[in-house]
Amino acid sequence: MATPYIVLEPWTVATWPRTLSFDEDGEVQRRCPRCGEYWPATTEFFGHRRGSGLPLTSYCRPCVTEFRRELRRRGHH
Ligand SMILES: [Zn+2]
Repeated sequence: MATPYIVLEPWTVATWPRTLSFDEDGEVQRRCPRCGEYWPATTEFFGHRRGSGLPLTSYCRPCVTEFRRELRRRGHH
């Protein structure tokens, strides 16, 4: 059974060729610009962004968590 988290269809790769690509199994992958890693382009690995455009955040979930922690730390010195 396929994961229910996938929010991107293969055709969307052509729309965002700089951040999306296919892996060897034909799954859509998304590159996180912060850690430079490719992750499956699903809401399991990326945050869900509403509105127009790509429905995933640019950073992967671990990076978003760390980024928020950094912001918080910077805000409380
Ligand atoms: Zn990352």
